[in-house]
Amino acid sequence: MKKLWILFVVAAAASAQIPSIDWEKNKVEILQHYRALVQIDSTAGNEIRVVEYLKKVLEAEGIPAATFALDPNRANIVARLKGNGSKRPLLILAHTDVVGVQREKWPVDPFGAVMKDGYIWGRGSKDDKPVLAANLVAMLLLKRNNVPLDRDIIFLAESGEEADTTGVGINFMVGKHFDEIDAEFAMTEGGGAKIEGNRVTVVNIGTAEKVPARARLVANGISGHGSVPRLDNAILHLSAALDKLGKWESPMRLNDTTRTYFEKMAAISPSEEAAVYRNILDPKRSAAAQRWLAEKDPSKYSMLRTSVVPTMLKAGVGANVIPSEAEATLDIRALPDENIADFYGEMKKVINDPAVRIVPLPATRPPSPATRLDTEMYRVLEQVSRQIYPGSTVIPSMSTGASDQAQLRARGIQSYGIGPGSTTEDTLNFGAHGDVERLAESSLYPFVQFVWSAVTGIAAHR
Ligand SMILES: [Zn+2]
Repeated sequence: MKKLWILFVVAAAASAQIPSIDWEKNKVEILQHYRALVQIDSTAGNEIRVVEYLKKVLEAEGIPAATFALDPNRANIVARLKGNGSKRPLLILAHTDVVGVQREKWPVDPFGAVMKDGYIWGRGSKDDKPVLAANLVAMLLLKRNNVPLDRDIIFLAESGEEADTTGVGINFMVGKHFDEIDAEFAMTEGGGAKIEGNRVTVVNIGTAEKVPARARLVANGISGHGSVPRLDNAILHLSAALDKLGKWESPMRLNDTTRTYFEKMAAISPSEEAAVYRNILDPKRSAAAQRWLAEKDPSKYSMLRTSVVPTMLKAGVGANVIPSEAEATLDIRALPDENIADFYGEMKKVINDPAVRIVPLPATRPPSPATRLDTEMYRVLEQVSRQIYPGSTVIPSMSTGASDQAQLRARGIQSYGIGPGSTTEDTLNFGAHGDVERLAESSLYPFVQFVWSAVTGIAAHR
């Protein structure tokens, strides 16, 4: 009896400060904000339109919002709800920009947020306006319900995630206004939930990403007449170097995230895949398992090592002219802990040709360590995943791409990637950056609840 009573008190204390939300009633408002955001064409240079919308909505609710701009058309917006300061802040962020569209590929207006067949169609409907809308709704509900907080909640909507050549977005905020967004934890795009047979089976939490470390490969030789073969032909040297790099397998290395990822995937996958995931971790069977992934699942293969992928070639001015220079661009994606300078040194050894130079391109993202899995935030995300998507498995994952989380992780913020549910087929055919993008309306509401539960779970006063 006494035990029961204590359990009751603990449960009551744990939930006492988090109001229950009538989600059915809130659907209308969630959909309205989400569609309004998708309807704003916020391709690079137009982010201010989203900022104006957010500012109006936040301030109407009595939440002060400040803008920070390197370029006035590409401003960033920050709003903060104060906690009692007993814990360090939580940063919830989403980027405001979207990639461009080829209108002729769309069956509907790409900025119409058209509702058809159970989906909301539009550029940004997956990347990144669900997170933006969910973060906004979380702020509004926290304020309206006057939720007492142990930590500040910082809302950031940043520009230029997709194309930030001038550093207007996260680079500007981290570089010039870091005290406005400094936090213990961050939550943003970079994860997602997998829907199979009408339910979410896997929740991927993004806890690491590879680091872009692109380089040019430049071969030099003596120019001359195309009728006279030369052994120092720059094109021959470049192609030999590319061939060697293509056949080279850089060392495999797992981190906390990828090791856990493959272990958990092995536990829930069909037998052939499960064996491959298990064998990766077995020194005797690893080589064959890696081959299998290289052929059948290249994105998982890329999680094993720093990858070197030639993406552009440039040489020659005429059919009868031997050029003195030939060049390739390499998209190199490094493991989070890679020493890039050492890695270039290894590449140089593999190429083993003094006529070929490796010329690093300017870094677009800083090297960033993987986020820890042993934090209060990760535990909350696991708990919330099970609550919102019963029966699902939570799996930490490393993105082979890059996001604004890199800048945050590089500054010591433990950052976690989340995202709404989607079927594999829908992700492939209607995913982020695709010709056509759409989100199932039925994925939107649970995702907003997921964000709300994570925010209150980590920050509400207990
Ligand atoms: Zn994005």
